[in-house]
Amino acid sequence: VELTLTCKLKEAEKIHKIKHIILVASGKGGVGKSTTAVNLAASLKCEGAKVGILDADIYGPSIPILLGLEGEKPQAKDEKTMLPFEKEGIKSQSIGFLVPAESAMVWRGPMASGALTQLLNETDWGELDYLIVDMPPGTGDIQLTMSQKVPASGAIIVTTPQDLALADAQKGIAMFEKVKVPILGLIENMSHFICGHCDQTSHVFGQGGGKVMAHRYGIPLLAEIPLQLAIREYGEQGKMIADEPSLNISEFYRKAARLVASQ
Ligand code: ADP
Ligand code: MG
Repeated sequence: VELTLTCKLKEAEKIHKIKHIILVASGKGGVGKSTTAVNLAASLKCEGAKVGILDADIYGPSIPILLGLEGEKPQAKDEKTMLPFEKEGIKSQSIGFLVPAESAMVWRGPMASGALTQLLNETDWGELDYLIVDMPPGTGDIQLTMSQKVPASGAIIVTTPQDLALADAQKGIAMFEKVKVPILGLIENMSHFICGHCDQTSHVFGQGGGKVMAHRYGIPLLAEIPLQLAIREYGEQGKMIADEPSLNISEFYRKAARLVASQ
């Protein structure tokens, strides 16, 4: 019993230097969780915080690509501890570093959540102000594990203004409320499109859904991030838009990060 206890204490030690664990979640896939998670992390870093990212999307990890770390393998610190990657001042860990990109994860829920808690606990994160967790879509086993077994400070819900995405985001909010993880705010991604030639704004996926929802649940609307080619391109090139203050778009993420940091 003592041995198990010591092990548990050791594990807790590795994450006890993390001040805030923030889950970035959504009900639906493809709404821009990973892109948002990475840019929020970069923005918090620009505000002076020590930041890490944990890719919890066991079935579709995209953090290695978004950080330009594809194909890298983490180094072991000792038999039970891995070192996170550090790039542009952001530490990261992902299941994507440990399994080949083309192999599909065919794990059942409990195995996937086990792998994830291990990834969190067996990484030597060091001192962090924020660990941003890029969650998989949905409200299944992994979400429950991360909400109940991990001392999360709060969750950020990402949605598009589309009715379908909003309905799923609502399920996400309900789940976090049930497990008593505070919702720090809502981010409406792909909110609108500003035409570079004609300066006209179009609402590709609908308009105002995020605002209505934030109001309904009494949660802050942290940002309405436009649909912009640069956001996708930067992601594909493994660069963070929030690191480029010259791009207007970076201010959307910076503002959201400041709102999160002020809570
Ligand atoms: P999720 O993690 O929710 O599945 P991703 O972050 O992988 O979503 O985003 C899905 C796709 O949409 C990616 O190709 C990404 O580059 C693109 N994307 C995300 N947000 C935006 C945006 N605001 N403007 C343009 N493309 C975006
Ligand atoms: Mg993702």
